[in-house]
Amino acid sequence: MSADPHCIFCKIVAGQIPSKKVYEDEQVLAFHDIHPWAPVHILIIPKRHIASMADVTEAESQLLGHMVALGPKLMKELGVTNGFRHVINTGQDGGQEVYHLHLHVMGGPRPWLKG
Ligand code: 5GP
Ligand code: ZN
Repeated sequence: MSADPHCIFCKIVAGQIPSKKVYEDEQVLAFHDIHPWAPVHILIIPKRHIASMADVTEAESQLLGHMVALGPKLMKELGVTNGFRHVINTGQDGGQEVYHLHLHVMGGPRPWLKG
């Protein structure tokens, strides 16, 4: 599907809603999460509207691989040196709030962890 007029992330892709962009190419956009769960928290999204991982097929393998592989590259560029998490929430029980596929990549010091 192309842009969904009601989708907040399609509006970010179209530049109708501002975002703190960290990376963009023909296929994907990456920007800082508005309510970060970690010192560095970005979202990597396909520019094309795909509602969730439940809608992904083998046809999206290259796109998904590209999104996942961008995580370490962008964390490094953002100064994250000590590890990070990739998270994708899917559907109601998966805690998904925005129904435009997005990969959370989170890094930076976690002071609540011991050691
Ligand atoms: P989900 O629970 O769907 O996996 O996560 C949605 C994420 O999108 C949340 O972490 C939320 O803070 C983020 N988010 C929602 N609306 C906006 C927005 O308008 N701009 C940005 N940058 N992030 C958003
Ligand atoms: Zn969308």
